[in-house]
Amino acid sequence: MTASFEGAGALVLFSGGQDSTVCLAWALERYDRVETVGFDYGQRHAVELEARQAVRARMLEAFPGWAPRLGPDHVLDLKGFGAVAESALTTDQAIKMTARGLPSTFVPGRNLAFFVYAAALADRRGLQALVGGMCETDYSGYPDCRRDTLDAMQQALNLGMEQDFSIQTPLMRLTKADTWALAKGLGGETLVDLIVGETHTCYLGERGERRAWGHGCGTCPACELRARGWEAWVAQGRPALTP
Ligand code: ZN
Repeated sequence: MTASFEGAGALVLFSGGQDSTVCLAWALERYDRVETVGFDYGQRHAVELEARQAVRARMLEAFPGWAPRLGPDHVLDLKGFGAVAESALTTDQAIKMTARGLPSTFVPGRNLAFFVYAAALADRRGLQALVGGMCETDYSGYPDCRRDTLDAMQQALNLGMEQDFSIQTPLMRLTKADTWALAKGLGGETLVDLIVGETHTCYLGERGERRAWGHGCGTCPACELRARGWEAWVAQGRPALTP
């Protein structure tokens, strides 16, 4: 286990998906005190919020070294935001590309709203690092996943809250195959197995059968991305990436 920053605490934006689960492991490896926050913004699948609890429970069981560091979970109600930022994730529209060249799964400003709420919570909880699984390499070009956006967000939060928050995005430059490798580097095959078995990524909210890469419908963009990343990682010989 690598040395942690003594006394430092982190709040992980935790959806119960693959990416935020790797971020949670990354934070538990680094920080003495780690709490998780999830957002209920009226998404149509409660399965995501259920996966969060399953992942946390298995992490406590499987990683006794991390268990004392894992503090409380928080769920914040952002349904009012979800009602404003209606999209394919929060209503029953089909997933397609919009005229702006963004997938209809893009919820305008969603990550920005998440960080405002997360920072308000972190302020109250005395946590300084805000950890999110945003990634600008493999993904759909969501503008609020870009590091530039998050640098500006960090500055706005620190100015506006008289704080010294640091927005940490350990997956920002990684491919989806690298994210599997990072999971292995952080928690070995035990963590890989936990991610395959417990996390939820599918946009359609389907659990389905357990495949090599996990559960899901297998055909939505999120499942396809996850499956492709898995296959690329396997083709590389399942390497471990040291954090
Ligand atoms: Zn799916």
